[in-house]
Amino acid sequence: MNKTINIRRLLVTILFILVISFIGLCIWIQDQYVVPVLMYHRISLEDEFPMNTVTPKAFAKQMDYLKRNGYQVITVDELVEGTKARKKFAHNTVVITFDDGYKDNYKNAFPVLKKYHFPAAIFLISDYVGVNRNLLTWDQIKEMSQNGITFGSHTRHHVYLPEESGQELKDEIQGSKKVIEEHLGKPVYYFAYPSGGFSEPIKSLVAMAGYKAAFTTNRGYDRYNIDLYELSRIRINSWDIPAVLWDKLSGYYNLFRQLRPSH
Ligand SMILES: [Zn+2]
Repeated sequence: MNKTINIRRLLVTILFILVISFIGLCIWIQDQYVVPVLMYHRISLEDEFPMNTVTPKAFAKQMDYLKRNGYQVITVDELVEGTKARKKFAHNTVVITFDDGYKDNYKNAFPVLKKYHFPAAIFLISDYVGVNRNLLTWDQIKEMSQNGITFGSHTRHHVYLPEESGQELKDEIQGSKKVIEEHLGKPVYYFAYPSGGFSEPIKSLVAMAGYKAAFTTNRGYDRYNIDLYELSRIRINSWDIPAVLWDKLSGYYNLFRQLRPSH
């Protein structure tokens, strides 16, 4: 009789510990939520660089997926200001960004973004605008800037910043900001490190140049996006099936991922 009571007590204790652990785990996981910042490059049928290219059809489908499933697309400004204020973002929040400023963003992404009233940010290689014919023109940039697109800097020449130093490094960061501001007539507050490459001194230079935040790829260690100069992003591919997209949009995608070393 006594033995049965003891076993029952033991089982109740184990169950109690399991329930408490489960609740603790749920609270911990909730706390690790990060607003997903999506990273695109080309929106094109050309598949020279498949990792950097999403087809127009896949992009339209992905935006439709966001709309149909009630995701709230916010601006980089809202993300950064909210993060600074330690705002608890709704778990259906998402930010859309594009690197390099390809011309196909104007032709294949902009109409879709406009259709859904989704804001987005594009990071420009300032000294190649109007020079490289695959990239956006200043006229296109101005038009997009008046219609929900925020423009940021992606350096002057798309250099890998950890390999630069001195005045050249400074100029890639500060100079590109100035060039874009002069053309757009508005301040540029956001930066994206080419190939996600950065270091602590580079982060300081970006902050000193007057940027409010900077984005990496998935190289950053700051998987919780607390450091505004190391905001990590999630690459979106053409072949992301809805289940993968759901995972990437969950806010926990980076949580259990093995991060590549920081540069
Ligand atoms: Zn780039």
